[in-house]
Amino acid sequence: MADDLKIGIVGGAGRMGQMNVIQATATEGCVIAGATESPGHAALGEDVGSLAGLGPLGVELGDDPAAMIAGVDVVVDFTVPQATVETARLAAQAGAALVAGTTGLDPEQEAEIEKATRHVAVVRAANMSVGVTVLAALTEQVAGMLGPDYDIEVLEMHHRHKIDAPSGTALALGTAAAAGRKVALDDVKQAVRDGHTGARPSGEIGFATLRGGDVAGEHSVIFATDGERLVLQHKASSRRVFAVGAVRAALWTRDRPAGLYNMRHVLGFEN
Ligand code: NAD
Repeated sequence: MADDLKIGIVGGAGRMGQMNVIQATATEGCVIAGATESPGHAALGEDVGSLAGLGPLGVELGDDPAAMIAGVDVVVDFTVPQATVETARLAAQAGAALVAGTTGLDPEQEAEIEKATRHVAVVRAANMSVGVTVLAALTEQVAGMLGPDYDIEVLEMHHRHKIDAPSGTALALGTAAAAGRKVALDDVKQAVRDGHTGARPSGEIGFATLRGGDVAGEHSVIFATDGERLVLQHKASSRRVFAVGAVRAALWTRDRPAGLYNMRHVLGFEN
């Protein structure tokens, strides 16, 4: 039998970091082998299992990502863009695979992540849940079937702590809708409407963002035309669904060649 896959968590005290610790610990075939937090974080030195409410796992939260990543098979990073760029560089250096869930990266930062994919397997997805992976595939298909008479709007709601908008998932759904119409999202995206906007141009893909409370993540893709609306919707009631996907992706990277992968690859929808 193969040894347990050694997982390192970057951002081990974060909401998703803790959820990833809980999920990896509950999953056969892997073990938490290291965890880091940002320099000066109040939880440094604490046991990452205790922090997540599991009891001690014998893994202290450290602030040296290079040393941590050198000792693991795969790094799971749900943090902030700058930290994830650094994790990707270190993972490529150390030969560790990477599961990167952070959203809000600008194109230069995404390009930095892609550099690592020449050296190691990287799973990159703005949303690691099975449901949203299927929703994106459906969105692409439906956008192609309905054509330009249907206006496409993506509506999302998240908890009050979220720092980027529209959500990475909303943008991924917009990208899927644009792909279904064989256009680039950047050419048709409308993320802000305020004041005297004029009538809605045909072909636009619009985004609306709601923030409040503890909502884990809700997304609707609305296809509206004269006389009818078709709505595809996903609601996450727990962050656990993202961690289930992240740990599944981590296990999937074992012996995987270097390259850029997404959740469609992990779930076997795409080769
Ligand atoms: P959070 O603020 O609770 O956690 C982020 C953690 O990263 C914090 O603990 C912070 O201290 C830590 N951090 C910051 N800089 C660091 C560094 N240099 N080294 C180590 N740790 C560092 O946020 P969250 O709700 O857990 O979300 C984190 C990210 O994951 C966001 O971008 C969010 O959009 C994304 N997210 C993705 C998915 C997905 O399925 N892909 C799901 C949920 C959230």
